[in-house]
Amino acid sequence: MKSFAYTRAADLESAVQLLSKTPNAKLLGGGTNLVDLMRENIEQPDALVDVTGLPLDRIEERPDGGLVIGATVRNTAVASHPVVRDRYPLLAQAVVFGASGQIRNMATVAGNLMQRTRCLYFYDHAARCNKRVPGAGCDAIGGFNRMHAILGASDSCIATHPSDMCVALAALDAKVNVVGPSGERAIAFGDFHSLPGDTPHIETDLQPGELITGVEIPPLSFARRSLYRKVRDRASYAFALVSVAAALEVDDGKVRNIRLALGGVAHKPWRATEAERVLAGANAGAESFRQAAEAELAPARGLAHNEFKIELAKRTIVGVLSELAGG
Ligand SMILES: Cc1cc2nc3c(=O)[nH]c(=O)nc-3n(C[C@H](O)[C@H](O)[C@H](O)COP(=O)(O)OP(=O)(O)OC[C@H]3O[C@@H](n4cnc5c(N)ncnc54)[C@H](O)[C@@H]3O)c2cc1C
Ligand code: SF4
Repeated sequence: MKSFAYTRAADLESAVQLLSKTPNAKLLGGGTNLVDLMRENIEQPDALVDVTGLPLDRIEERPDGGLVIGATVRNTAVASHPVVRDRYPLLAQAVVFGASGQIRNMATVAGNLMQRTRCLYFYDHAARCNKRVPGAGCDAIGGFNRMHAILGASDSCIATHPSDMCVALAALDAKVNVVGPSGERAIAFGDFHSLPGDTPHIETDLQPGELITGVEIPPLSFARRSLYRKVRDRASYAFALVSVAAALEVDDGKVRNIRLALGGVAHKPWRATEAERVLAGANAGAESFRQAAEAELAPARGLAHNEFKIELAKRTIVGVLSELAGG
């Protein structure tokens, strides 16, 4: 591993300053992804700015009923928080389905948003990877691509975003609060992560010198009835082949409100806006759920080893919505 400077930021201002003025500095949350990547010489920062001492470790209720979750709150604390479990069960479930207890105890909310892909070629220095070395090519496209994207991929990169928590946050219409040299701003969750296009090394909207201060979740009363389902190769400790986060409100047999997002299918947590559109006001039954799933997956493209994900995603959507509708 390359040697690097280490500083523990005392306050937000100095964290932004350190990040801006130190060439190639990286922020350190729980270190569960970054340190692994440094050991593999994929990330090679000159300096680490540890943010875990910043006053961003609180979950606070907003007067309107929403929640603000600080950037350095540990994943375990999110999943066990009584308000999260009561008002946003899909979020608590998504976090618990990720990683292991030990990793969740260390991992922070911001680190989870910023974690890198689990594409095996990205980790393999012998492989061509546009995300690791821009312009190098992509060995996953003609290689073993079972875990890769079926939606929104490009000729440059077919990697998926690995986070479970982010799929729930996408469904909940969260915002990502950031601060940087030009002050504070809030980014809609759907705009935070990028599709690969021809710049797959650019993964988020975060600008140089900016850091995440927290995630803001709006009040969403019907999210009390919500579910996160993760389909994976092993019962635990595995990334999603496909996952579905959904909140559903049914009134007189019709869909009154619906929020739907998919994981394991794209370079970013995938908000299923087309399925939501089909379901608005529709009968809350398996037939409509299937129609919505078909519409959402219509642009999906399978590769040599992941064609099965298209049908898997449709069936998981129908299964989750049917369970929420009580059918
Ligand atoms: C074996 C294993 C299995 C896993 N399985 C899953 C899984 O099934 N589902 C899942 O969702 N995750 C899984 N994870 C990933 C795990 O959740 C992430 O490693 C973790 O969320 C990263 O959080 P961290 O705080 O440790 O981040 P770090 O490793 O500290 O940092 C990750 C990135 O975030 C950046 N960062 C940190 N804080 C900030 C900030 N405030 N603002 C901007 N950038 C910041 C860092 O610079 C770095 O680029 C797994 C990890 C491992 C090792
Ligand atoms: S899919 Fe993306 S991350 Fe994987 S090898 Fe290709 S460019 Fe790299």
